[in-house]
Amino acid sequence: MAAPRAPKGLLHPESPLEEDQKDQALRPRNFQEFLGQRAMKENLSVFIQAARGRKESLDHLFLIGPPGLGKTTLAQVVAHELGSEFKITSAPALDKPKDLAGILTTLSEKTVFFIDEIHRLKPAIEEMLYIAMEDYQMDWIIGAGPSARTIRIPIQPFTLVGATTRAGNVSSPLISRFGITCRFSFYEISDMVAIIERSAGILDIAIEEEAAALLARSARGTPRVVNRLLRRVRDFAQVAGAPSIGPALVEDALGRLEIDSLGLEHYDREILSIIIQRYGGGPVGAETLAISIGESVDTLEDYYEPYLIQAGLLQRTPRGRMVTPFCYEYLKIPQRGEGGLLF
Ligand code: ADP
Repeated sequence: MAAPRAPKGLLHPESPLEEDQKDQALRPRNFQEFLGQRAMKENLSVFIQAARGRKESLDHLFLIGPPGLGKTTLAQVVAHELGSEFKITSAPALDKPKDLAGILTTLSEKTVFFIDEIHRLKPAIEEMLYIAMEDYQMDWIIGAGPSARTIRIPIQPFTLVGATTRAGNVSSPLISRFGITCRFSFYEISDMVAIIERSAGILDIAIEEEAAALLARSARGTPRVVNRLLRRVRDFAQVAGAPSIGPALVEDALGRLEIDSLGLEHYDREILSIIIQRYGGGPVGAETLAISIGESVDTLEDYYEPYLIQAGLLQRTPRGRMVTPFCYEYLKIPQRGEGGLLF
């Protein structure tokens, strides 16, 4: 399965190296710094406390949510709170069973092992993971042909954290092996403001309250987007010689970046306009839409759609994607009824 092409715009994942250098300082390290997602955090703290009390590894953890909401960050926080080692990989990097075996055999006790994009695991690797998750063992074939035999290798009890943007594509045998499931939702404005204030403090930027609120509303409920926007706004402030970031500066920066008041970027608006102009507002199938916008279905579904749906602009129906009446209103496009009548 090919990996989805990275989307254009602010959701575009930077290369791990770039992300590391720029974001490492901003990445929350513990529960106190991990803002928002309150209910999830509270439950997890109880499970962690209980596992620590029993001196056991934490149950395997399944994280579901759109990109940039903090799945990797939370996995790291969990490792920190458990006082455990953290190992990270992603399913597309596990090409052959030996790639997974190489990691499993080097895990120390209670390690938090994070696999991103877990819906992309190859079947042979997934099967190997089942036994590892359930019995802390690994089947390994030595030799070839008639003399080949399987040996069971014990591995240290560990916690697997599997993250996905699309839970629907994860097989039920794999899902059933996770003891804890956490579903991320887009962050509330008040949490986004808190994230901006925290990041601004770390980056040593002065930002006014009204400016932070404006930025928070334009960042599609996503910490990754808000941190990037903050860095861009800081650039504009620096070049303009502004001592602090005020609302006018944020508005100007958002205008230049073509980000509107709902946090939509140029490509989001293009998707909606194409549905209206070429497909009469929908329904249009995901494949057809993806071809029309020059993206893969995966990129459309993983990166663009979740926020458009959350913002009330788009609907997924059994017959395909449809824009909502609010979308017409928002884009200021008159809605046509049957027979071409304008509503
Ligand atoms: P995902 O793995 O879901 O794509 P990440 O964990 O990489 O998302 O998060 C993207 C960035 O957003 C992180 O580098 C971090 O700085 C920031 N971030 C994520 N979650 C939070 C949070 N709850 N509080 C503060 N910052 C966060």
